Amino acid sequence: MAKLPTSIDKIIEKYGPNKAYVPQSGFHGTHEPDKLVKTHCCYCGMQCGIQLKVKDNKIAGFEPWMEFPFNEGRLCPKGVMRYMQNNHPDRLMFPIQRVEGKGYEPIDWETAMSRTVNEIKRIQGTYGKDAFAMLSGVSLTNEKSYMIGKFARVALKTANLDYNGRLCMVSAGAGNKKAFGLDRISNSWADLKHAEVIIIAGANVSETFPTLTHYIWQARDNGAKLIVVDPRVIPLARTADLHLPVRPGGDSALFGAMLKILVDNDWLDHDFINNYTEGFQEAIDAVKDYDLDWAEEHTGIPKEKILEAATLWGKAKTSFLLHARGIEHHSKGVENVSSSINLVLATGRIGRPYCGYGTITGQGNGQGGREHGHKCDQLPGNRDITNPEHRKYIAGVWGIDEKDMPWKGLTAYEQIDAIHRGEIKGMISICFNPLVSLPNNAYVREALEKLEFYINIDTFLSETARYADIIMAGSLHEEEEGTVTTAEGRVVKINEAITPPGDTRRDGEILMELAARLGEGDKFSFATSEEIFNELRVASKGGTADYYGITYKKVVDNMGIFWPCPSLDHPGTPRLWEDRKFATPDGKAHFVPVKYRPATEMPDEEFPITLTTGRVVSQYLSGTSTRRIGKLIDQYPEPLLEIHPKLAKKYGIEQRDLVKVRTRRGEASFPANVVTTIREDTVFIPYHWGGKSSANQLTIAALDPVSKIPEYKVCSCQLVNTGVKSSKELRDTAYQSWI
Ligand code: SF4
Repeated sequence: MAKLPTSIDKIIEKYGPNKAYVPQSGFHGTHEPDKLVKTHCCYCGMQCGIQLKVKDNKIAGFEPWMEFPFNEGRLCPKGVMRYMQNNHPDRLMFPIQRVEGKGYEPIDWETAMSRTVNEIKRIQGTYGKDAFAMLSGVSLTNEKSYMIGKFARVALKTANLDYNGRLCMVSAGAGNKKAFGLDRISNSWADLKHAEVIIIAGANVSETFPTLTHYIWQARDNGAKLIVVDPRVIPLARTADLHLPVRPGGDSALFGAMLKILVDNDWLDHDFINNYTEGFQEAIDAVKDYDLDWAEEHTGIPKEKILEAATLWGKAKTSFLLHARGIEHHSKGVENVSSSINLVLATGRIGRPYCGYGTITGQGNGQGGREHGHKCDQLPGNRDITNPEHRKYIAGVWGIDEKDMPWKGLTAYEQIDAIHRGEIKGMISICFNPLVSLPNNAYVREALEKLEFYINIDTFLSETARYADIIMAGSLHEEEEGTVTTAEGRVVKINEAITPPGDTRRDGEILMELAARLGEGDKFSFATSEEIFNELRVASKGGTADYYGITYKKVVDNMGIFWPCPSLDHPGTPRLWEDRKFATPDGKAHFVPVKYRPATEMPDEEFPITLTTGRVVSQYLSGTSTRRIGKLIDQYPEPLLEIHPKLAKKYGIEQRDLVKVRTRRGEASFPANVVTTIREDTVFIPYHWGGKSSANQLTIAALDPVSKIPEYKVCSCQLVNTGVKSSKELRDTAYQSWI
């Protein structure tokens, strides 16, 4: 076994943190690969097709995969650089454990496994089964998502399993289920190219789903009108026909006002409303008082622009409405989503060619990861863990008694609260970095410190992993076979390109061994990923997310199959609802009445500025991987505070001045990036960094009452010009002081 420094400081001294990694000259591109492996990018929900070059069981580069129908060889900067994570010197190559007073030391797998299982048994024996919780990530394959759901309920026997999609797509998922009974975008991206009007709301497509931009440009080439709703003039907004610079939190006021204009002008599809929907009257009653003056006041958008947007939408024959975290990361995220869906239903433009609606999934398997029982209230096939029929069916598939199946557990942030209350004492997490990605992260750090035992499975030593008692070295995307489901609902194949290096293990094998040591090995005796997928197919059968008819062979032969696919002879469903039969109990699409309500924290005298957060093109989520790749760091080396020149002038702030941002949770300093592309009353910080550079030191843990998503997109802050010019040296000093 390789020798590891025995303290965390020495590990960091030797391997990182965040050391920019550029492969040795001559390592990539100069040797003929042993093989090319067709697979997919490991990052965002587009899951672009890519071919990895393999040399001597290492990923040595990539080639475009021109034939894959979604991206046809196109990749964004993250996709181009994703291969560099594989040989990174920071990669965890063996399990390590924290030894009180001595720091960290390498251990063998037997020690890691036996200590973990002993602690799980001790904690559950002392405090009860639910005192041991699990958190996981949706960058994992469908097979792992499914296995995690089963592992938590059958092996750990805990109700407290949740996932980091809780920070991403859950508002959209809840809104979709209310309206349609099913949680998936309605059409494949191919339909987008021919839509007459496209609304993109709260989705920085060019930076966060870059390869999708091509489809929007093609629609523009075909004459589409593009409406972008965003507090910032994001790259897509620069070529849009109409940019609506909504005040963070004003989305449902905008969509409600637009619905009122549609009604006033009778730009409605009465046949669709009368025959295929429910709740129209209640929805329009909720917005009957929304005139344009009210809308301008509550959205911050000039009323002429709101009218123009409604007119474009109202008169269109075909249209697409897409949104992402910009309208979903709110304590009223589900209401925002529902209010946008009301516009789609009122005009009946869904379930037809070139007419669609959907959320743009952010995480690698954000779509599949939210279907297979990975959530605290869910069973495979998007079934409900509180529904007796659903419980009985899944208990049968798993070979357990239904009464032994745990009930609904706590969501991700509720688990943090439960640790503080002393109800959760132990935790296992996989591919989740809550210390960077959850709001108010000082509170999260205190929770991690309170755990009696914490196991972290990951590929790099994340900020969160540093609080773990045991860190198990897991596998990267290219080291395990499986499937993922792209943002358009297409199930695609991930191929194992190399075997896990050093003393790392495949995540699936780690979970199976833990299950066996917990006495449930007979229910986790999968020899291949395909065997897991075949069980998942059966478990999903009859659920709204029905994968039964999808096989590995079909996926490979067709370069993806769209679910639902209920039988082996079914071709899959690229476009939903063409038969006008929705997945709700009454078969109708449902309007949801939405009354605008303000964000939890609105600007006031003490905290007069709105803070909003988001992503940049070269980084992915909490940056555990992308913050280690030199060429991605070069593109955006540190989080900058975007501020409008007028607001900057008020505080005497100039370019690269270090600005202290203070909220009711804490304070942190960021170099200013003075830009005209943001509202004058709002500042923006990207959230991919940890420690003193973390935007989530500042954000508020206000949760949506239905989806429990945190309100990353709105809180109030103060700005203080420190009078110091930021420099690289300063940045490094700040980082080191945190370490
Ligand atoms: Fe494609 Fe997303 Fe990967 Fe970029 S990050 S290459 S858009 S899958």
